This record gives sequence, structure tokens and C-alpha cells, in this order.
Amino acid sequence: MSLHYCPDCRLLVSHCICAQRPSCVTGMHWRLLMHPNEANKRNNSGFHVQRLLGAKVRRVYWDRRAQQEMATQAALDGQQPVLLFPKHFAVESAICSDSYLGEWSNRPLMILDATWQQARKMYRQSSWLQSLDVWSLPIEQKQAVPELADFQYRLRKNQATTGCSTIETVAFVTHLLGETAIAEQMLNYFELFQRDDNDPSH
Ligand SMILES: [Zn+2]
Repeated sequence: MSLHYCPDCRLLVSHCICAQRPSCVTGMHWRLLMHPNEANKRNNSGFHVQRLLGAKVRRVYWDRRAQQEMATQAALDGQQPVLLFPKHFAVESAICSDSYLGEWSNRPLMILDATWQQARKMYRQSSWLQSLDVWSLPIEQKQAVPELADFQYRLRKNQATTGCSTIETVAFVTHLLGETAIAEQMLNYFELFQRDDNDPSH
């Protein structure tokens, strides 16, 4: 018997959690630059970020053309994204900060939705990414977010650039920038996904 998955939550249809998906209205804009290998991973957490935050998220596959498109779009918007990336791996010429600078407000935040190795390679290969301002997240502050401290999503934890999965990173930033209720909603929803995804009855 073939298994049928819900296209919206990516769980088995019998375990669909779409009815429990919160509507999260965030003031932030996100760009997820996704490595092609992430495309078909059912547990890719960037997918769920887009489902939760809707039109505020642009999710683009990484390739040379996408890089060109994003650079062009950023030029048209007049708004370069701010890249979330560890400063010790950023190029020397990049402007890096541990904190969110006031001048960054209204600019989209960009995450490389990829494993750690892939993300570093994407960054090395792209002069455009290297030209972006970098917010090096103080990830040790994660413990200040109770929902994150308890969060059990460990699938690719050790490989991601920030030491978190993409959805954890987005929730962490959302919390840091004051939208604490949305951060909590996102994590609760994803915990639900993870729990049902690990259900041994599948
Ligand atoms: Zn569903």
C-alpha cells in the first residue's frame, strides 16, 4: 500500500496537523536560500517556516541563477538582506555584528537553508553573499528562550550554521526581536510535526 502525505504539513494524511497550524503574523521578512538537496527532504524545517509565516517568506533554491535573481531583486527593492551567519566564517570585508543593528530594521533577514558544510560552500562560492552584512547570532542566549531550551528537534542540529535547525533559528530571532508569542507558536507547531513524524505507528 502506498503512503499518502499531506502536501501542506508533509505528514501522513491520517496524521495531518494542518487544522492546528497557527496563523502567525510577523513583521519580519525572511529569505531562505535553500540548497537543492533540501528540496525533497520531508523534514526540511524551512518548508514549515514558509507554511507558518506565509508571504513574509521567500524561499529560493540555490544556484547561480537564483543568486543573480536575488541580487537583482535586492537591488530593485533597495534592500540588501542581512545574512545570519557565524562571523568567524564570514569574509574579512563583511560588516558583522553580534546584535541587531537599528539600521537593519525593515531589511529582510536571510538564512542559508542547508547543512553546515553546504552553507559554507554556498558562502565561499558567492561574492554576492560575501557582500552582505552579517548578523552573527549570540546563540548562547538561546537558553533564555524556554521553548527553545526544551526543544527536542535534533535531526541536523550539529550541521546547521547556527547550531540550530532553520525553524529554530527563525523562532529564536523572532523571539529576540520581540515577537515572543509567534516564536512560541512556531515551535509548538513544529514540535507537533516532529512528534507525529516520529510516531512509530507510521
Ligand atoms: Zn496536513
